[in-house]
Amino acid sequence: MSLINLLDLLPDELESLAESLGAPRYRGRQLAGWMYHKRVTDVLAMSDLPRPFREALTQRTTVAVPDVERCTPSRDGSRKFVLRYDDGARVQSVLMPDGERLTLCVSTQVGCGFGCAFCYTGTMGLDRNLHAGEIIGQVLAAARTLPSGQRLTHIVYMGMGEPLANYGATVKSLRLLTDPRAFGFSPRRITVSTVGLVGGIEKLAQENLRVNLAISLHATDNAIRDRLMPVNRGFAIEELLAACRRFPLPFRQRMTFEYVLLEDVNDSPAAARELARLLKGIRAKINLIPFNDWPGAPFARPPLARVLAFQNALLERGITATVRWSKGEDIGAACGQLSEAVVA
Ligand code: SF4
Repeated sequence: MSLINLLDLLPDELESLAESLGAPRYRGRQLAGWMYHKRVTDVLAMSDLPRPFREALTQRTTVAVPDVERCTPSRDGSRKFVLRYDDGARVQSVLMPDGERLTLCVSTQVGCGFGCAFCYTGTMGLDRNLHAGEIIGQVLAAARTLPSGQRLTHIVYMGMGEPLANYGATVKSLRLLTDPRAFGFSPRRITVSTVGLVGGIEKLAQENLRVNLAISLHATDNAIRDRLMPVNRGFAIEELLAACRRFPLPFRQRMTFEYVLLEDVNDSPAAARELARLLKGIRAKINLIPFNDWPGAPFARPPLARVLAFQNALLERGITATVRWSKGEDIGAACGQLSEAVVA
């Protein structure tokens, strides 16, 4: 009999599990308190739970936090983790300190099937989806490495995989992160990044999760976006932006558009002007990401002057645009650089 990963269960489901094992429902709440507030994952060490309940739990369940197989520190203070699950699958998570902020970038799939041309992860192909418990297991694994008193402040779904292509697990993991009985993160401190799966964006809009949404746009012209992101052949830019306009943004929240700058591909002044025109009417901010190189990449990073000219063209048109010099570039942990052998 395969064991239930307790990290896969929402707080209500933990209560139902307690009931099914002959314990009162509130034992499920205590269990969540141990795992998420006290960060104890050994059920036998949960001292205020009755021994028979703990023993029943150990026979049927596990708390499967992935092993940190490797942790590589970067010169800029970020750290890349290679995490290994029980079946040998590996993903990467990246911890990025920035002043008071400590952001963890999590993966939602082992590999990725979307094949964006500028992304190293896309060269791996998709091995499998992660379960919700495997996604939040990355948060627990990274949190365990922090010195006492230091806490994660932000979570971004920008690691390996497309979150909305693993919709059910992504949404469940977001509920676990934001539920005060579990992690209790503010949704404003969580960002889900998507290549622009229109159906997924529309479904997410109905979930009332109030997390931030980031769209990987990367081009203003369908022919170029088709080439960079094969997903565009199914959902053209106009259709994607129409879904973004319909997305219910919480008060004062803005949608982020990610735009990787590739020399002589999408970095012209005309592209900047077109980007400003396309985003009219959307409460948007743009993250410009100068391309991060990886072995065999068919693209180059534009010179600094061209990056700044692109940014200025947006600023002049009243669009908030920041240049994101990615963290962890020296350790292959920057945006679009994540890749890892899939199984042992
Ligand atoms: S950018 Fe995201 S969706 Fe595209 S290949 Fe890379 S991981 Fe997949």
